[in-house]
Amino acid sequence: MDLKQFVQFGRKIVAVGRNYGAHAAELNNPLPKEPLLFLKPTSSYIEEGQAIKVPRQCQELHHEVELGVVIGKRCSGVDESSALSYVGGYTLALDMTARDLQSAAKKAGLPWTVAKGYDTFCPVSRFISCSELPRPDSATLWLSVDGQRRQHGNTNDMIFPIATLLSYISNIMTLEPGDVVLTGTPEGVSAVQPGSRIEAGLDGVLQVSFPVEKSA
Ligand code: MG
Repeated sequence: MDLKQFVQFGRKIVAVGRNYGAHAAELNNPLPKEPLLFLKPTSSYIEEGQAIKVPRQCQELHHEVELGVVIGKRCSGVDESSALSYVGGYTLALDMTARDLQSAAKKAGLPWTVAKGYDTFCPVSRFISCSELPRPDSATLWLSVDGQRRQHGNTNDMIFPIATLLSYISNIMTLEPGDVVLTGTPEGVSAVQPGSRIEAGLDGVLQVSFPVEKSA
């Protein structure tokens, strides 16, 4: 399997919530004592050239720029010391979130599946090889909306670094080639509207651009 095609064959997206302290604080969430996980469906993937659609049910669609880790080989029950050898590459991802629906779900003690799972809620860049991003734990990522900078962070601010996440996750569920782990978002999340254009980048590697449109 060619990892460049991870969007086509990857079987799951495991996302990590509240992995940057300043972002946890901006949403008035406590810092997690262990990684907070949720799943996004692979049907939410879009690639450049496609548009993010605002669901009719959502009044507050938020962007979250995140470094995605693309798994390179089957990974089950690994420890932190070997975890990085299972990384096949990376992608720059947007964990789009219906924040209003998520807040209601949180209050009711319900899962985040709806708020995180709509079609088009996981825009991703092309595959990034490990040699293009030799130091994933000190990568700068940013996001702008209509030319205005909203998010700017560095992966060295993650509460749980990549090796810790892969070890933790792989001791719960087997990670398979093409699966993606979304490693959390830095502070600065905010709402976008139909007509907005999101640009996001990983310094020195790439940038991506996605339009936001009304749902059909
Ligand atoms: Mg997120």
